[in-house]
Amino acid sequence: MFNQESFRLGATGSAIRELFEYGKKRKQEIGEDNVFDFSIGNPSVPSPDIVKNTLIYLLQNTEATKLHGYTSASGDNGVKKAIADYLNQKYDVKIKDSLIYLTCGAAASLTISLKALLNQDEEVIVFAPFFPEYKVFTENALGKLVVVGYDDKFLPDFCDFEKKISNKTKCVIINSPNNPTGVVYSEDIIKKLVSILKKKEDEYQHSIYLISDEPYRELVYGNVTVPFVTKYYDNTIICYSFSKSLSLPGERIGYILVNPNCLHSNEVFKCICGAGRSMGFICAPSIFQYLIPSCLGLTSDLKVYEENRNILYKELTSYGYDVIKPEGAFYLFVKALDEDAVKFSEYAKKYELLLVPSDSFGCGGYLRISYCVSKKQIVNSLPAFKKLIEEYRK
Ligand code: PLP
Repeated sequence: MFNQESFRLGATGSAIRELFEYGKKRKQEIGEDNVFDFSIGNPSVPSPDIVKNTLIYLLQNTEATKLHGYTSASGDNGVKKAIADYLNQKYDVKIKDSLIYLTCGAAASLTISLKALLNQDEEVIVFAPFFPEYKVFTENALGKLVVVGYDDKFLPDFCDFEKKISNKTKCVIINSPNNPTGVVYSEDIIKKLVSILKKKEDEYQHSIYLISDEPYRELVYGNVTVPFVTKYYDNTIICYSFSKSLSLPGERIGYILVNPNCLHSNEVFKCICGAGRSMGFICAPSIFQYLIPSCLGLTSDLKVYEENRNILYKELTSYGYDVIKPEGAFYLFVKALDEDAVKFSEYAKKYELLLVPSDSFGCGGYLRISYCVSKKQIVNSLPAFKKLIEEYRK
């Protein structure tokens, strides 16, 4: 007998990926330009030139056995040092390179961190709406997902948060800038969140870890800043990824960082090493590890996303859609015109608009639009959005 849970996960796929696959098929049928695929968070802006130039340099100037060889299980020491130095200078913190673990992107960072921390039936708190894979990763580590509600700005409902922290709470995952809402947690929100966590740590007399999932750290618009969470809460683990900032999602590169102020930080790091080992997540792709030191602090041209956001927000609002103005990431969260977002997403397909229903994000009634697409797609899709609302309202 196969493992039934693995079969279920493999057989069903995620709502995002199902729509993405549908889009690929539909494009073959009616042509690439006739499908408005807003399903997946695949960066539409090329990586900065330094990525290509450094890769060429590495290929031409590094001994092949080193370039393509195994690094230390947790990553190359020189790369870790470069990351720690960069973060310390940028955020005025004291990150230790010995507490950094290179991974295959944020997904691996999260899977490893949860496996490292959780014992059977311990609880992981997430804030709706949340990245659907949190549930999969938590359950894979034998934990239980506990979902906290949101307020009218899609920020955490702190009363609910306080109520849902229990003696079994092992960690809390935050994701700011947020997928799917584009909301960014201000310093005040982080302070409020950690004050509750500290109170509950005292009450229950055990550590509650804050896992900060940060693939969109650099993707913010205007004057918005993203607080560096280790400054506010000792028991913090950061799960970072270069997938979005450098447009490298297919290359699978990121890292886990344990705050040096975390209680028993060295032991926590050992758990991370052990979890990585147990799942075969060791030696992240070496050539992409060696690329990182040249690219720290650099990003793809993020202005493109800001422009897409501005056009979509302005136009959809003017057609009558109820839209949350995103401060970061590259997603727009729009209220579905039907209470049943799945039904409305199906209806939108009539206009070749591929919009992800919000149900798998832990909240009903909304649609996620990934606007990391060409400006041409944004502009060409506008008549379809207009028609959709006009005809649905009839
Ligand atoms: N966390 C969030 C919130 C995401 O949106 C994604 C990808 O879209 C991931 C994690 C996984 O990122 P990666 O491609 O780095 O594994």
